[in-house]
Amino acid sequence: MQTITTHYINGAFVESHGREVVDIIRPTDRAVIGHATLADEEDTRLAIAAARRAFPSYSQSSKEERTQILRRLHAATSARVDDLTAAMVEEYGGVVQFSRLIVEAAINAFHAAEVALQDMPLESSWGTTTVTQEAVGVAGLITAWNANALFICLKLASAVAAGCTVVVKPSELCSLQTRVLLEALHAANLPKGLLNVVTGRGDVVGAELVRHPDVDKISFTGSVGVGQHIMREGAATMKRVTLELGGKSPTIVLDDADLGQAIPSALIMAFLNSGQACAAGTRLLVPKSRLEEVKQVTQEVMRVFAVGDPADPKTAVGPMVSLNQYERVQSYIRKGIEEGAEVLVGGLGHPEGFEAGYFVKPTVFVNVKNDMTIAQEEIFGPVLAIIAYDTDEDAIQIANDSNYGLHAAVIGTDLQRARRVAVQLRAGRVVINNMADDPQAPWGGFKHSGVGREYGRYGIEAYLEPRAILESKGAF
Ligand code: NAD
Repeated sequence: MQTITTHYINGAFVESHGREVVDIIRPTDRAVIGHATLADEEDTRLAIAAARRAFPSYSQSSKEERTQILRRLHAATSARVDDLTAAMVEEYGGVVQFSRLIVEAAINAFHAAEVALQDMPLESSWGTTTVTQEAVGVAGLITAWNANALFICLKLASAVAAGCTVVVKPSELCSLQTRVLLEALHAANLPKGLLNVVTGRGDVVGAELVRHPDVDKISFTGSVGVGQHIMREGAATMKRVTLELGGKSPTIVLDDADLGQAIPSALIMAFLNSGQACAAGTRLLVPKSRLEEVKQVTQEVMRVFAVGDPADPKTAVGPMVSLNQYERVQSYIRKGIEEGAEVLVGGLGHPEGFEAGYFVKPTVFVNVKNDMTIAQEEIFGPVLAIIAYDTDEDAIQIANDSNYGLHAAVIGTDLQRARRVAVQLRAGRVVINNMADDPQAPWGGFKHSGVGREYGRYGIEAYLEPRAILESKGAF
């Protein structure tokens, strides 16, 4: 049983001023495995004040000093890979193989930011004009629960590279994971006040960050509704915002695809992180002419998507993070059935033998029309909608017929044709033939999927403001 009563302010673990204590519940069996005291507005204001005090000095640090800090962060987090992975499996229910990948991506964010920073000119000049890239100020980093370490490290790495000081507000569902991460980050021996972390409720700690005049920027990962709220509320203090929001990502299987490869790839993308992934490819667009084949291969492949204990390396889909999330997924499966879609695999309720935790049945719907709720709204669980199309143009139109535009995939044998389709998709990232990653490529959404980009130089630029100094040749 873990008891967490502190936050991280000005380089030290300090007792919470907030008094609300929440249970930490293990999603595999709903056991209470710990207690965490949540931060309140006062804790948040102390954290903001520490970041504000540290800003004048840190913002003037050299590239070399920031590089050294990024290296220390990389080394300190690298030393805790197993602990960070174990915490993600236990508290969040992330399947172990995927959790390890997330932790490795989190750690790599520090190295990737270092590489990007080296290539970025922070000063340029012509004639008597000099333009410098200045740190935007104190950044409030508000994160979601589905990849806690990754979101925190990614935002922190970009902010550190840009010369910003930060206050992090992790999700209130991640106290345990945040505690392990904080122990690691503390070991990096950062300048005091550069990093401050207060875990608390969104409408308490998050809201204070958004309204406080000493916070210059908010970088947020979470839902569209909260992102819109942050944009509205932040306007009063002219906050710069980066919003990484939801998705309803299409995977287009072209009619020349080898289904034996295409369907497993598409299902892996659909059930990524047990379906609790912003990039999950939850709309599978397949040629009408091959629909029966697709159904058959999907049923076969789904047998290997085993639900189970997330600590078991053979498990592909773990539990949902919370009761709320379990019920949300159930309500969408119910809605899909009510609206006339057909359950090909899965359905309502717990999988047999997994009644104790927040497990759901990985579910595939066919006979889905793109205007159905399950094709338009983000479910954030392992629920896939298969939609049939006639032509490539039809597939592109269906793929783009969404408020979202975060991620998309195109799978086919003719690469030129796949590229022609890819460039017509309104999404921040399009992968061809399989999930691919590049820590220097931008990540972020078109349309309701967000504002701004993360990763590489795009991520660092989001924490910078250009300042021009113009020298006059003489007095008037
Ligand atoms: P959420 O919007 O409920 O919460 C995200 C964070 O915002 C949490 O820390 C929460 O406490 C905080 N928050 C809530 N209300 C707030 C307020 N009024 N002011 C300030 N902060 C507030 O989202 P969630 O349920 O934690 O995460 C799931 C969502 O995140 C999904 O929509 C998913 O697609 C999205 N997501 C996007 C990305 C991406 O990179 N685009 C990555 C992961 C998750």
